[in-house]
Amino acid sequence: MGRANLSAPLNIGILALQGAFIEHGNMLRQLGAHVIEVRRPQQLAQIDGLILPGGESTAISLIAERWGLIEPLRHWVKTGKPVWGTCAGMILLAGHVEGQKAGGQSLLGGLDIRVNRNYFGRQADSFQANLETTLQDDGMPACRAVFIRAPVVTAIGPGVEPLASLVTPDGRKHIVAVRQDSMLATAFHPELTRDTRWHRLFLEMVEHARQGEESRTMDLNRLSC
Ligand code: GLN
Repeated sequence: MGRANLSAPLNIGILALQGAFIEHGNMLRQLGAHVIEVRRPQQLAQIDGLILPGGESTAISLIAERWGLIEPLRHWVKTGKPVWGTCAGMILLAGHVEGQKAGGQSLLGGLDIRVNRNYFGRQADSFQANLETTLQDDGMPACRAVFIRAPVVTAIGPGVEPLASLVTPDGRKHIVAVRQDSMLATAFHPELTRDTRWHRLFLEMVEHARQGEESRTMDLNRLSC
């Protein structure tokens, strides 16, 4: 497992209210990132990028609401800070969700996609499959992915790039990973496999955003001289 090419450790926050946040943290540490489990709004100021983990999107949004995190998280996404939603996290980021619980759930939105929330059925229908992806990895022969009550992307806006798809036994192709600006979303759980390509991609996105931020600060300093 290689380390990502980082200039200085990146501070990556993982929303740690419910779901698979520990596994994301383990993988990020192996790649050289510094991990912060985010439970309070003030912690958002300490991080360079944020992961919304898989779990149960209704539970995550209810806890986030109770702990005063929904608006700060919406603000984080709106200001273009790097964010990656896996599974439930993809649902939270989606602009439109089909199959929401009665009464709905507070979504963060921002990502111009429509998702079908429990497309593949119940927990018992969880499965693993190889994906078709443009994200190549020399070290890994195929992109094996774990799907647990996973959503699929049923529509994407013009600024959204599909990164991976899954062909189901009926021959239909479903988009399961997308990127839009500094937002990444995967319907599956890369943190539950040994395939680090998605985590490395996210760290590259965060590093890129941090470099942009640094050069903007330098420009501002120069202007104020
Ligand atoms: N479909 C689930 C939800 O609505 C997400 C499942 C997952 O994150 N593994 O929250």
